[in-house]
Amino acid sequence: MNASTPEALRRGWCPSALRPMETGDGWLVRLHPPGAVLTPAQLIRIAGLAAQYGNGLVEITARANLQIRGVGLATHPELVATLLAERLVDEHDGDGPQRLTLVAPVMSFPSHRPHPEEPRSGVSKDRPACSGGSFETRPSAAPQDEGSRGETLVDSGLLADAIEARGRTIPGLPAKCLVVVDAGGPLALDAFACDLRVVAVASGTVAIGLPDGRWLGPIDAMSAPERVAGLLSGFAAHRRAQPDAVRRLRDLPPAMLDAIVAASALPQTAPPAPRAAPRRVGRFSIADRPAVLIGLPFGRSDSRTLERLGEAALRAGATDIRFSPWRGLALSGLEPAAIEPLLAAASDLGLIVDPDDPRLSIQACAGKPACLRAQSDAMADAATLAEAAAPLLATGASIHVSACVKSCAHAGASDLTLVGREGGYDVVVAGSTRDQPIATLDLPAILARLRPGQDLFTRLSERGTIGPQV
Ligand code: SF4
Repeated sequence: MNASTPEALRRGWCPSALRPMETGDGWLVRLHPPGAVLTPAQLIRIAGLAAQYGNGLVEITARANLQIRGVGLATHPELVATLLAERLVDEHDGDGPQRLTLVAPVMSFPSHRPHPEEPRSGVSKDRPACSGGSFETRPSAAPQDEGSRGETLVDSGLLADAIEARGRTIPGLPAKCLVVVDAGGPLALDAFACDLRVVAVASGTVAIGLPDGRWLGPIDAMSAPERVAGLLSGFAAHRRAQPDAVRRLRDLPPAMLDAIVAASALPQTAPPAPRAAPRRVGRFSIADRPAVLIGLPFGRSDSRTLERLGEAALRAGATDIRFSPWRGLALSGLEPAAIEPLLAAASDLGLIVDPDDPRLSIQACAGKPACLRAQSDAMADAATLAEAAAPLLATGASIHVSACVKSCAHAGASDLTLVGREGGYDVVVAGSTRDQPIATLDLPAILARLRPGQDLFTRLSERGTIGPQV
């Protein structure tokens, strides 16, 4: 094992199964399942391991990573051996990202599960190989389900696999490097910050977005992995010269980014057409594949709840479970008649199935007692705020509760940001944890000022909301 507290606290470092991170409630172990997909049986197994080796708390991060909390250092090697033996994780060596790509969790195609012997070429044996030699998706009949529905323009799972495979060959990428792969369907990923953004703009065609707002392309999706690898290689080369100053692509001086773009020989293009913000939970149908997205309140669940959800997923005939960057689970391959019972079971478990649930509009970090740096119990306070501020949240307002200034749950601005300070909060309106607070208050005072007619309610409801962000 390669775990150390100083390393864990270093900026830019990410925990994994082999390298856990020490926290206030034990060691945090982040899991990267092969292909970022599980079966219901595997979900049940991981929930059982979280209870056996950890404190039973399971989280899904805003980068759609799964992690278990409260693992004992003495039993961590046994946990890792079990995870590897049962192929529940596929960690690789090196300091680069364990998962380079982020995709929408509901896809047009079933999951791709490469055998260990199979090179991660991005070409699947078990799903339709890139129709016509491209990452194009199949056209389908008119959608029949309620909820969000539509088509995607590329097979984002296959494309992400190919980008992952190329990315792993590039030395020097930072652990947090992220490429968003957006299939162009109803689950737009525009709100997620990243280093590069690959967005489908037509069937089998993508554009590549840079952090400075420029877009390159359009290009055939089949060539995207090489093009992305070229841009990332240029980034890694510049970063190797000054690794502490350059952590993300956006940190590069403009002249260096210009040089990388020039070397790519890619033309500039217009940004993709804007799409509506996606629903983050509920039922979906993409290319006639019914699926449901279920949210974990503030991205956290206890292991027993997750086990029972896995059992309900089995009964519903789910084949794929992916992690959602909206801090939940996407279940696909469902029997249509089983969808409503599944959603009802999830709701009964206290999970989020209603797109208007106020808990979806609040981001909260682990807080006390889970985190050593926490100055408040962020999750408990977020639950109180969700209930008390429901009328305000229904207007589209967003709240971020961060138990310290580090801002693990949400890096950007929110309509109301609360930063933990000695049990209370610095209160920031329309800003992030780094912005100037208007006051430092305890939770009861904040709740009082969020009531209709009080100053925080008025300030937040009168201004245009930043809205739910990630
Ligand atoms: S933001 Fe929250 S989880 Fe992150 S270090 Fe601070 S207290 Fe801990």
